[in-house]
Amino acid sequence: MTTQQRYPEPPIDLPIDAWLYEANPVPGCRQCAAAMRELRRAKKAGDATKRFEASRKVRAHPHRASE
Ligand SMILES: [Zn+2]
Repeated sequence: MTTQQRYPEPPIDLPIDAWLYEANPVPGCRQCAAAMRELRRAKKAGDATKRFEASRKVRAHPHRASE
């Protein structure tokens, strides 16, 4: 009765959601670097939605494995 779930975004400290915020930036990739800056800023601001979006950016754009 006291704890109503009214989060507009997923809670940050649930381990099951951690992967949503994980990002594996590729060294030398500008898009990764930009997204990681966003990610860090969002983390500081406590903005879970932006964190998710930034980490998704890192995962979403293609990297060439052969280079
Ligand atoms: Zn990248």
